[in-house]
Amino acid sequence: DSQKEANGLRTDHWVMDKRHSTYLFFMGVGEYAIVKDKWKNIAVDYYIEKEYEPYAKQIYGNTPEMIEFFSKKLGYDYPWAKYAQISGRDYVSGAMENTTATLHGSDILQKPGQLIDENKWEDTIAHELFHHWFGDLVTAESWSNLTVNESFANYSEYLWNEYKYGKDQADYHQMEDVNHYIHNPSDFKKDLVRFDYASREDVFDLVTYQKGGGILHMLRNYLGDDAFFAGMNDYLKTYEYKNAEAHQLRLSFEKVSGKDLNWFFNQWYFGSGHPKLNYSYTFEPVKKQVTVIVNQSQELPFEFPLTIDVYDNGKPKRQQVWVNAAAKNTFSFDVSKNPDLVNINADGILVADITETKTPEQNLMQFTGSKEFKSRYSALTAIKDQVGKNPAATKLLSAALKDPYFRVRQKALELMDLSNADQLKALGADVEKLASNDPKTLVQGAAIAALAKTKDKKYLSVFEKGVNAVSNSVKANSVAAVLAVDPSKANTLADKIDLEGASDELLSQMLPIIVKNKVTSEMSNIAPLVAFYPFLKFQNPELGKSAEEGYNWIMTSDNLKATESVTKILGQAKGQMGENPQVKMMISQMLKDGLTKKMELLKQNPQKASSINPQIDAINKAIENFK
Ligand SMILES: [Zn+2]
Repeated sequence: DSQKEANGLRTDHWVMDKRHSTYLFFMGVGEYAIVKDKWKNIAVDYYIEKEYEPYAKQIYGNTPEMIEFFSKKLGYDYPWAKYAQISGRDYVSGAMENTTATLHGSDILQKPGQLIDENKWEDTIAHELFHHWFGDLVTAESWSNLTVNESFANYSEYLWNEYKYGKDQADYHQMEDVNHYIHNPSDFKKDLVRFDYASREDVFDLVTYQKGGGILHMLRNYLGDDAFFAGMNDYLKTYEYKNAEAHQLRLSFEKVSGKDLNWFFNQWYFGSGHPKLNYSYTFEPVKKQVTVIVNQSQELPFEFPLTIDVYDNGKPKRQQVWVNAAAKNTFSFDVSKNPDLVNINADGILVADITETKTPEQNLMQFTGSKEFKSRYSALTAIKDQVGKNPAATKLLSAALKDPYFRVRQKALELMDLSNADQLKALGADVEKLASNDPKTLVQGAAIAALAKTKDKKYLSVFEKGVNAVSNSVKANSVAAVLAVDPSKANTLADKIDLEGASDELLSQMLPIIVKNKVTSEMSNIAPLVAFYPFLKFQNPELGKSAEEGYNWIMTSDNLKATESVTKILGQAKGQMGENPQVKMMISQMLKDGLTKKMELLKQNPQKASSINPQIDAINKAIENFK
C-alpha cells in the first residue's frame, strides 16, 4: 500500500510472499507515467518516461498476450501476483528479469517512426517475461548452470516469434543468433555448463544465450513438441520456488520421453564446439543410387540426426539420417539419375558450420524447392557474387521478391543492382510495386533504395511521396533517393530527416547529407558514426571524410546532447576495444582535438559558458577514460 506523509513524503509497502532468489530483488524510483494493462486479474503495468507515454501500448502492448501464450505453452500459469516493466537510462545491461518488476535499458523507448518498421525490443520483452518461469520460479543452482535460465529465455524469443509472426520469423531470429556464435571462435572451447570461468560475468555469453537457444531447438525437434513441453512442465513443477541444474533438466526430459539423453547432454551441455561439416556425393548409374559422404572436421566428432534433401528431376526428396560420432559417415539413397542437388541440414535445425559450393542454378532450385526459411535464405545470400553475371541469379532474385516472408524480399532488394539494364528489365516493375504496396515498411524502404540506384526521374513521384511517410525506413530512403536523382533538392529536404534509432546502414547513407547541409536536429544522431571517424577513414575513405567533418561540426558547435552522445558511445565501445594501445591513442588524440575546438568556442562565446563548460567536462572525462 501507499501512504501520503507530511512534507511531500510518501511511504510504500510491498509484499513478496513467494520464495525467489535475492539477486532478483529490484526497486525503481523516478518520474514515470504508469500505463495500466492486465492479464486475467493480474495487473500488468508499464512505467514509462512521459515523452513516450503515448506509445506505451505500441511498445509493451503484447505483454498480456505473451503471458497467456507462455502460460498455456508451459502448462503452468504465470505464478506471480503482478507484472510491471520499467526502463532506465544508462543501464549497464540490456534488461533484467527482477521478479514482477522487469527493468529494460532505454533502447526500449521507441517512437512511431521506428515502431512501424519494427519493435526492436519485443524479443527482449518476451525474454524477460519468460524468465519469470525459467530463472525466477526455478533458478539456476549456480552461475555454472546459467543455461537453465538464459538458454530458455533466449529460446522463448523463438517460441513467441513462431506463435505471433510465423516460423520464418522465428527461424530468421535464431539464424542471426546462432551465426553470432558460429562466427566467434573464442567461444568454441567453452562448455555450455562450465565450472572454470574467471568471473561470473563470463558465463553471460554467446554460448549460454544464443548457442543455448539453438541447442534447445535441436532438443525440441529430437523429442517432438509433446515431450519437449511436457519436460519443461515437469522441471517447473518439480523445482518450483527452488534451484535446479542441467542434470535435473535432463532427468525431467528423460522422465517424460522415456529416452536416455546422456549422449545429447554430454555433447551439447557438458561439451563444447559444434560439427564442422563438408560433404560430397557420387552417383552410381547401375544401382541408380547416390552416395552422400558427410565429413566432420572438428576435433571431437558429434552424433546427430540430419535432414538431407536430394533433388531428383528438380524435385526434393527428404531423407532423415543419423550421423554417428565418426569423422566420416556414408549414406545411400535411390534416385532416377544423377541428382541435381544435395542439400544437407535442409531444415536448418542442426547447429553446425557447413562448407559447401553450389552453382547459381542449384541455389535457384534450392530456393524454389525449400519450405524452410534457412534453406531459402542461404540460397539467396549465396548468389551475392553472381548477381549481374548469371541469369539464374536474376531469376532467384525475382522469385525472392515474391517470397511470403519479408526478410527474404528485403534481402533480395539489397542484393540487386537496378543500375544494371538486364536486372532493371527483369525486376524493375516488381520492385516499383513493392516500393508503394509492400505490407512491410522495411521492404518499401529497401525497394526505394533499390530504385534509387537507377537515378531515373520517372520514380521521383514514388520517392517524393515516401518523404512524408511515418516509417523511418521509408522516409530516410526516400530522402536519399530524391537526392540521388536530384541533388539540388537537398536544402528543402533536410528537415524531413529523422535518424533516431536508425540502422548503421541508413546512418551511413544519410551522414554526408546531414553534414553537408548542417541539419542541426540530427547532430546527436550521427554520433555512432562520427565518434569512430579515424577508423572509418581506413574502411571507407569517403564516408570517413564525412564522419570527420561531422565530428568537427559537433566540436565547433554549442550542442551538449550531441557532444555527450559522442563521449557516451566511446565509453560504451571501450570495453570492446580491449587494451590495444594504438586504438586508445587514436581515440585520445581525436578527443584532444575536439577539446581544443570546444575551448576555442568558449573563448569566442564566453556568454555561453554555462552550456559549453559541461561539454568540455564530458570530453575531459572521456580523455581520462582512454588514458
Ligand atoms: Zn536473460
